Amino acid sequence: MDSSTISLHFQSYATESVADTEMNQTFDIAIVGAGMVGAALATGLAQEGFQVALIDRETLAPFDPDSTPDLRVSALSAGSERLLRHWGAWGAIESMRLCPYRRLAVWEALSPMLARLLPDGFNRTVFDATKLGRSHLGHIVENGVTQRALWEAARSQARVTLIQGHEVRSLEQDPDTATLQLDDDRLIKASLVIGADGARSPMREMAHIGLNRDQYAQQALVATVAHEGPAQDITWQAFQPSGPRAYLPLAADRDTAWASLVWYDHPDCIKTLLSLSDDDFLKAVQQAFPSELPHLTRVTARGSFPLFRGHAQRYFNGRVVLAGDAAHTINPLAGQGVNLGFQDAEALIHHLTNARTQGQDIGGEAALSAYERERRPANQRMMLAMDLFYHAFSNARPPLHFARNIGLALAGHLPFARDEVARYAMGLDEGLSARLLRWLDRRLPAFPIT
Ligand SMILES: Cc1cc2nc3c(=O)[nH]c(=O)nc-3n(C[C@H](O)[C@H](O)[C@H](O)COP(=O)(O)OP(=O)(O)OC[C@H]3O[C@@H](n4cnc5c(N)ncnc54)[C@H](O)[C@@H]3O)c2cc1C
Repeated sequence: MDSSTISLHFQSYATESVADTEMNQTFDIAIVGAGMVGAALATGLAQEGFQVALIDRETLAPFDPDSTPDLRVSALSAGSERLLRHWGAWGAIESMRLCPYRRLAVWEALSPMLARLLPDGFNRTVFDATKLGRSHLGHIVENGVTQRALWEAARSQARVTLIQGHEVRSLEQDPDTATLQLDDDRLIKASLVIGADGARSPMREMAHIGLNRDQYAQQALVATVAHEGPAQDITWQAFQPSGPRAYLPLAADRDTAWASLVWYDHPDCIKTLLSLSDDDFLKAVQQAFPSELPHLTRVTARGSFPLFRGHAQRYFNGRVVLAGDAAHTINPLAGQGVNLGFQDAEALIHHLTNARTQGQDIGGEAALSAYERERRPANQRMMLAMDLFYHAFSNARPPLHFARNIGLALAGHLPFARDEVARYAMGLDEGLSARLLRWLDRRLPAFPIT
């Protein structure tokens, strides 16, 4: 067996993975993609007694506590924290690095005229954990930290075989089995293949599942920065017509407060920002961001991400089912992507466990369509919510400008709206209610996506 294969199944249970030959292995479930969502699925499915192969083309270096923070970070909701605790990964995240945030603020840069008309802070919505009777609203965690913690959790499960550093070359399906061929010619057979291989998902293509895709006119520039003053416990987003500017606090080390900044703008602007020297970049950020931004001292990483919305036309075909970004990619505006992916994982684990209990085929239509019926509308609602935000705030027309400031004020000042939005942001509800979204949708003008 390849030295990069860590085989951890020593124990027999309901089923056992079977090595037909050195090159062929049979599992209940093969998961392609060991990102945050794939690794969560492997752990949760093994906890339920399934034999799982978890395959990723990348390898992961051990966590280095002296490293500067990664560029890729995610706001993990309280709902995701609950799931990560259940999968046994939260302790490892805590022992590496995380930053709780207790307050979340959203506002729009006002025109001088509107600023004169509206009372100070009128359109600023602040959610405060203490007012909701909670210690925090969520955590900002580096994606690499969450992924490492989940790999550790998966490795601790005897029923998980982690195959890293290998990619899937081809897929074949027959009525009873799906067979994956890896790049070293190994054959992995399973009753079900889960494609958790990200937004570009080769598994989605191999399973002939189409994608509805739309490109947004903005791109996101993400930067890791050090700043003066103490570590912050607030995350904020200030909207501008050309796109929002966001501040996400990161775990501080002994003498430095760190943050992740996101600057959404036209691709030409993002390209220019990426070409600047570190000093000029810091000056540009300090000028363009609101005065709430602490004084920046250093930038250690910068990168840009194209923004698109993609939704798989169906969530399964034959014995292949999709989860996470492979099934849906949404605008990161409200930081919901991986939180939705963890909800997919929870639902899929539930429906597969149910199917097995009822003696059904885990790769069969009944189990997979139950999963699709639960998750597709929920993910669709969140995409609609992000589109409403995007279109409402990326527009300088005065009536809309005024309307959205009233909207922000209402969201912050009316208790029913504030509670609903806060529960949604914390991941305690899976989305804004369909009623609220339909109401907003009817009142906003229709826009093409770009
Ligand atoms: C700028 C930005 C900010 C964001 N902020 C947030 C946030 O605050 N909160 C939030 O919830 N979400 C956020 N997101 C979204 C979040 O990053 C994604 O939803 C999440 O990373 C998706 O996880 P995943 O496991 O589904 O896919 P991925 O993280 O893409 O993992 C896919 C895995 O599959 C592997 N793979 C791919 N192809 C193959 C193959 N053929 N064979 C083997 N392995 C393969 C890859 O190596 C990778 O490890 C943000 C996204 C962006 C762009």
